[in-house]
Amino acid sequence: MMSSHHNPHVVLFPFMSKGHTIPLLQLARLLLLRRGVALTIFTTPANRPFFSKSLSDVVDAISLIDLPFPENIPGVPPGIESTDKLPSMSLFPAFAAATKLMKPHFERALNALPPVSFMITDGFLGWTLDSANNLGIPRLVYFGMSYFSSVVSRSVTSAGLILKPNGDDEAFTVPDFPWLSVTRNDFDAPFRDREPKGPLFDFVTEQMVATVNSHGLVMNSFCDLEHVYMEFYNRNLVPKSWPVGPFCLAEPRRKPPPENQEKPSYIKWLDGFHEQGKQVLYVAFGSQAEISPEQLREIKVGLEESEVNFLWVVRTHESELDGFEDRVKNRGLLVREWVDQREILGHPSVNGFVSHCGWNSVLESICAAVPIAAWPMMAEQHLNARMVVEEMKIGVRVESCNGSVRGFVKSESVEKAVRELMEGEIGKSARKKVKELSNSAINAIKEGGSSWLKLDELINEFHAKMKKNPDM
Ligand code: UDP
Repeated sequence: MMSSHHNPHVVLFPFMSKGHTIPLLQLARLLLLRRGVALTIFTTPANRPFFSKSLSDVVDAISLIDLPFPENIPGVPPGIESTDKLPSMSLFPAFAAATKLMKPHFERALNALPPVSFMITDGFLGWTLDSANNLGIPRLVYFGMSYFSSVVSRSVTSAGLILKPNGDDEAFTVPDFPWLSVTRNDFDAPFRDREPKGPLFDFVTEQMVATVNSHGLVMNSFCDLEHVYMEFYNRNLVPKSWPVGPFCLAEPRRKPPPENQEKPSYIKWLDGFHEQGKQVLYVAFGSQAEISPEQLREIKVGLEESEVNFLWVVRTHESELDGFEDRVKNRGLLVREWVDQREILGHPSVNGFVSHCGWNSVLESICAAVPIAAWPMMAEQHLNARMVVEEMKIGVRVESCNGSVRGFVKSESVEKAVRELMEGEIGKSARKKVKELSNSAINAIKEGGSSWLKLDELINEFHAKMKKNPDM
């Protein structure tokens, strides 16, 4: 990899969890489409194989640097360097805060690099702002949320509505967007807490301060998707934001495997359904969700009763599934391994997605024109689910039995949502809408599209600054 003041040199540093790493590696591909851009990406030893595999076809164009991951983090087993491998998400604050110990290694490595035009580091790596400032490199923040969830959260918290003594499920109007109504349960801890405190609150607050003091936000979104919310952000909030997504479209759809390499068995299974002209529902809850055995049982019964064909990615509570696979073997497949979600969503047989509404999953579903049955679990997923169902109207909600967005979901509700999505009128209209959005996404990302131009603008702005000030 060559770099000089003449060519932009960009540093990327993803946070150590799959939902944060995957989009930044996709962004790397978007940057590589620009002539002359040199890329350096930071990772850690245990995460490196995932990076190398994901970028195998472009790895020669990238310089990949490992930084040692901190050891002896209380509660975190040795060798765990990614949050999806944590025994429990309660260890997240300790894990995330420990990444700060990587700072001296990061700065030493940066010092040894050719001149850097700017860095894009994850919003959870707020300490990189200090390193960037020490070395005179502009830091931009990769922010893995939608504009919608960012500005709705901001609007509600700054009006103090989250602190009002209403019930957790009582709906109230979002001040800046009066057509929206939300409940306190749509927000996750620590910000839904009336007196937020503790390590998670401290961590998140620190990241927010670092974000507003950075040079910009790089958003995995595009203008046509959430124009109103993007405009609101840019009018009222800092730092400046750059909608340059959806990043997932930068990845090539998987090429046919080489002759000596088999397709994954779940893809062959989907091929079989496609050949028979049948449609399949995809069920998956991302890389982090913790699903209780009781809830898993309801999903199982709901899928069985719905009579749809389905591919379900399961990660826990195997004993709950005894005998289930045999009963549904003609129409259902359970997959325990890490799957290529984009390939599944892009498969011609897949026609619906029961999703936890992680932002990447929502974007991947939109890009593949697959409507969603929204079942949020944590983080900002409840707001994403509202956006999917109420704003974009590209899906249906999986309703809980007590009406709360965090309530327990019974099998009847799983069955109802799945049938509506796959066979009902709402599903039909959601499918039409998601197809339109999919086309807009493709237009945004291609050469000359809104996201393409924004990324060009961003590169030029920061590279021009470096050329003006070669000591940077
Ligand atoms: N993913 C995948 N295979 C799996 C599980 C997840 O490819 O078996 C990918 C998925 O396509 C998405 C990311 O992991 O890109 C998950 O991000 P998301 O924001 O949807 O949810 P999170 O895991 O962060 O909750």
